[in-house]
Amino acid sequence: MSEAAQAPEPPCARGPHPEVCHFLEAPGSSAFDPVELARVTERVVCDGNRRKYSRFGHTYDYFKGVATGYVYGCCLRCVFCWASSARDSALREARLCSPEEVLEGILEVARRRRTTFARLSDGEPTIGREHLLQLLELVERDEYLTRFFVETNGVLLSDESYVRDLKPFKKVWVRVALKGGTPEGWSRKTGATPESFPLPFEALRHLKKHGLGLSVAAMSLDPRFMGIHERVMLVSELARVDPQMVIDLNEEMVVPYGISLERLRSAGYPMKRYIPIPVLWRFLQVGYHPLRRIGKKRISWSRTWNAIKGLITGT
Ligand code: SF4
Repeated sequence: MSEAAQAPEPPCARGPHPEVCHFLEAPGSSAFDPVELARVTERVVCDGNRRKYSRFGHTYDYFKGVATGYVYGCCLRCVFCWASSARDSALREARLCSPEEVLEGILEVARRRRTTFARLSDGEPTIGREHLLQLLELVERDEYLTRFFVETNGVLLSDESYVRDLKPFKKVWVRVALKGGTPEGWSRKTGATPESFPLPFEALRHLKKHGLGLSVAAMSLDPRFMGIHERVMLVSELARVDPQMVIDLNEEMVVPYGISLERLRSAGYPMKRYIPIPVLWRFLQVGYHPLRRIGKKRISWSRTWNAIKGLITGT
């Protein structure tokens, strides 16, 4: 690995919530263009084909666990984000790693933890296209790893040429996480301009068109972060891309890690509605029924019984 890189701090014009770094604000606005932010972030977290990493580790996601490279930098500033502070600051403990070094780090973790899955996390993996594509080439040739998850907010994959570049990699599985169902909801939760709301849906269209392995997630299960109206709008927007994506949608709750709570607090969310349970690291939460139940075609016995009663009593 290379030595810690000393780069100038990103131009961070503080937004309405000083704890949430909304750099690249347009004058008179607290929102930023996420594509422009990705460009500036890339200049800070990448150098040629190398990208800044904080560490390599393992999590229990995807059933059999996944070896993870923790990257620096993202092009959104989601209020519920649980990525570490490396998301905003590219300076602390940063190591510029080549694709070969990343593969080495991931393989070491994967073999030790007996998993053949890998991914990048803690930031946006599609920032630093050259780095990601070279890493995917190495993963493709590697005999041990069987799957590489590109977990993305979809902003940069709205560029079809990027999706075309991903197409040859058979081990790649793209997971797009939707943050909002309306331009206002998207902007409020990510800090990005309302005009950038269609970008992840554009990405889904390209990914579907080019036949990449794909799943879609949305932060839509918790009514505190997505009301019914926004949830319906999200579903209808997604149905315009592909109705099957609505049925397969992986809906998520906000996981209240310490750093997420800090970000939520600074963004003015009503934290008192979280009920802390002593000792447990999770907090009691309320949620909607998952949308996929629509696809189950289950018979409701109570409604059937009411219909029978209606027939008998003639009401
Ligand atoms: S939740 Fe994901 S997309 Fe949003 S700021 Fe965090 S790392 Fe970026």
